[in-house]
Amino acid sequence: MSYARFKRGESDVYIIANVSGYFTCYENPIFECETAAEMIEHILEHVARGNLVPARTLTQLREDDTPAFDEYMKSIRDNGWDERIARPGHE
Ligand SMILES: [Zn+2]
Repeated sequence: MSYARFKRGESDVYIIANVSGYFTCYENPIFECETAAEMIEHILEHVARGNLVPARTLTQLREDDTPAFDEYMKSIRDNGWDERIARPGHE
């Protein structure tokens, strides 16, 4: 699932939650973290540097900043991704 994709004039960041159970920000070097809260902190650093980040990116990450979503991502890291398990808040 992507939270933001590169788009000129709209987004300088490309951020996803990947099937290995990590949040990823594509840049050099790639930034990865385990929780939406950590990715929100990371994005705010982009904003502070003047990078464009779509408003909905932070909105979606804040919606996923829940214990249930943290547990969901941890289960993917521990057990692998299973499409039969719904994303919390995204059923
Ligand atoms: Zn980044």
